[in-house]
Amino acid sequence: MNLSQVRGMMLFTAEQMVESEPTLTALDQIVGDGDHGIGMKRGFAAIITLLQDPKFQPTDIGDLFSQIGTKLMTSMGGASGAIFGTLFRAGGKSVAGETELNTAILSTLLNEGWQAVYQRGKAKPGDKTMVDALAAAAITASELTTSTLKSALPQIAQSAMQGAEKTKQMVAVFGRAKNLGERTIGHMDPGSVSMAYILKYMNQYIQ
Ligand code: ADP
Ligand code: MG
Ligand code: MG
Repeated sequence: MNLSQVRGMMLFTAEQMVESEPTLTALDQIVGDGDHGIGMKRGFAAIITLLQDPKFQPTDIGDLFSQIGTKLMTSMGGASGAIFGTLFRAGGKSVAGETELNTAILSTLLNEGWQAVYQRGKAKPGDKTMVDALAAAAITASELTTSTLKSALPQIAQSAMQGAEKTKQMVAVFGRAKNLGERTIGHMDPGSVSMAYILKYMNQYIQ
């Protein structure tokens, strides 16, 4: 995928994330403080504006993703603004200069993004955060680097969703959900669902 195709994919993804606000709000009402859907909607609405602006001319795929990260960070607020902002910013930086997105590049982006999210928030897999979906996706991506993006992305997105599903059994130790402790068992972490949705919509666009 070239830069303009990746831009189209991220515009579609942002539009779908805005549409997902009610689902994400409902999850955070159970597991957190109810603002996750609103935060994601605000962040991805800002991404739509950015990507539709003809004056926005990223130099390459890394630049595109890192500028998306900066925009999320400055527009969203909350824990997830910092976390999803870090994912895209650090992920983008790790693929600076690349002009074609393939599975190997996506794998680098997800794995470096994951490391940066860990540095930022210290959540590990099993802590009931978006890391559960991100880590699962990053690991699957690294196993599929020689496959085409079109054949790898369904599996990467599916792993992310399985990672999100697994958060149902976990007790939250981070963010506002930790105050709810055991009461969060049986419910998915909202950030993990957002992470899985981002990859699901990227995949929908390229199929
Ligand atoms: P807030 O918790 O400030 O209300 P949101 O509701 O927007 O922010 O986002 C909550 C989501 O952020 C959680 O569902 C979780 O996935 C993610 N999150 C919270 N803390 C961390 C962390 N330390 N590392 C990774 N993700 C985190
Ligand atoms: Mg919240
Ligand atoms: Mg909040």
